[in-house]
Amino acid sequence: MTNKKISLIFLLLFLSIIITGCINEQTENSDQINVDEEKYEYSDTIPTGTDTIYQFSVIDALLEGVYDGEMNCGELKTRGDFGLGTFDNLNGEMLELEGVIYQVRADGNVCEINDSETSPFAVVTFFENDIEKNLDKKMTGQQVAAHIEELLPSRNIMYAIKINGEFEYMKTRSVAAQEKPYPRLIEVTEDQSVFEFNDTKGTIVGYWMPEYIEGINVPGYHLHFITEDRTGGGHVLDYTLTSGTIEIDRSDRFYLELPENENYLSKGFSADTEDELEEAEN
Ligand code: ZN
Repeated sequence: MTNKKISLIFLLLFLSIIITGCINEQTENSDQINVDEEKYEYSDTIPTGTDTIYQFSVIDALLEGVYDGEMNCGELKTRGDFGLGTFDNLNGEMLELEGVIYQVRADGNVCEINDSETSPFAVVTFFENDIEKNLDKKMTGQQVAAHIEELLPSRNIMYAIKINGEFEYMKTRSVAAQEKPYPRLIEVTEDQSVFEFNDTKGTIVGYWMPEYIEGINVPGYHLHFITEDRTGGGHVLDYTLTSGTIEIDRSDRFYLELPENENYLSKGFSADTEDELEEAEN
């Protein structure tokens, strides 16, 4: 063997040591990322396990009149089996319960929605009960709201809220499909349809969000309702509970997906929408 050949072998050996070293280092690094595989189930890299709230679009876009449906309901069901939102053109209130998506139309009718229908704004999660409380005395919606807030372990995380019960009174609203150019949400809700139910059974589906979510979602409560027989419901405005069960799903993960349609991309959002949100949602 010539000296040249020997030095080439040494060089190759040296290089392979460096490369192996690098690989080992990488392996060590990836070992340090501790992924709780049971908690996360990935669908197209979107975490869809429990304790994750998935949201499509932001509430400020809805306030500005971005009503073009983009997320289809079939896909939405892969992100959660429980939630709320609205439909293409703002056509009614959306409620998802046990994996079924319902539409409460402006005429009060309720129907199950096909997977091909689309939504401009929706918030869903795989509901898993973490905190449960039975209520057996009559309470107003405000009393229930205050009671739930006492049950929340912290005001700094997010919660999905489910209330199954009998209601002495329930007042909801829905909105009609809009035409382009879309009016702002505050103008639409001036003409909203209001429904009142007396002595009805049903389920409230919704969220409690922290103050810092302003602009993205609704701080505090956002609740929708559906009757047990699935013939009525809507966005909750007021109620009196006779008895029922509160279930709370604490969520410390939030996944936000934004629309790509021109309507969304070209809109300027107002900096301060707090008052408008209050008027449009309550
Ligand atoms: Zn609503």
